[in-house]
Amino acid sequence: MKLLRFGELGLEKPGILDGNGVIRDASSIVADYSPETVSLELLSILRDIDPATLPAVPAGVRIGAPVSRIGHFIAIGLNYADHAAETGAPIPNEPIVFSKAPSCLSGPNDDVLLPKGSVKSDWEVELAVVIGKRCDYVEERDALDHVFGYALCNDVSEREYQAERGGQWIKGKSAPTFGPLGPWIVTSDEVGDPQKLDMFLDVNGKRAQTGNTATMIFTVRQIVSYLSQFMILEPGDVITTGTPPGVGLGMKPPVFLKDGDEMHLGIAGLGEQRQKVVAR
Ligand code: ZN
Repeated sequence: MKLLRFGELGLEKPGILDGNGVIRDASSIVADYSPETVSLELLSILRDIDPATLPAVPAGVRIGAPVSRIGHFIAIGLNYADHAAETGAPIPNEPIVFSKAPSCLSGPNDDVLLPKGSVKSDWEVELAVVIGKRCDYVEERDALDHVFGYALCNDVSEREYQAERGGQWIKGKSAPTFGPLGPWIVTSDEVGDPQKLDMFLDVNGKRAQTGNTATMIFTVRQIVSYLSQFMILEPGDVITTGTPPGVGLGMKPPVFLKDGDEMHLGIAGLGEQRQKVVAR
């Protein structure tokens, strides 16, 4: 199943993408996809519904982030060996964990706003995990049973704020619109193995990033289990799991986003995003 939210910013409704690519309005079944409603039980309810019985939504509607008001937006840094190399950082022995402010969550095709004065904003195509069941000391073998689904994420990053302004990384990862998520959450059963997904990101029509989740240093299973040793993961929490090589910081010389740039990114089976960059 592909679950999404559609409508104007702040007024989104929950939907299901049917087999023909038509959005169906699921608001008669669930009020929203949010920490209050996201659960494995909700998935079994939705699975029993024939999307054709739900109202079709006209094409062209805005798509929002597929889950709202999340409690926690966690990210893993330097989780691809080849990306760690391009940044000059050693391969981490344990996952590098940081946060993005939940308020940076954004629709998949909404404009990305450069913070005032930003000169080092950068792109990162990533696989994001949406938690569907409370995680407290979860074993690796059970970790994927706690996943609601997967989504495409652009972990937009301001490198100066991230690394040159006295820590922590959250400063460079949290500006409004720095967390495009979606277009939809694809449920685990449809994704299958999350460690074999091709991914790409283009800037202004030119390929910047190419990767596959097979080269992650720490797998989704390991990340969910690892995080649950340090904190409770709640339904609706989003974990974005790191980026493959090809970020602007790693280019020689480095290349950063500027007003008018366009990003286009995707992960096999999870859909695509297009964002225009707009200076505030
Ligand atoms: Zn990242």
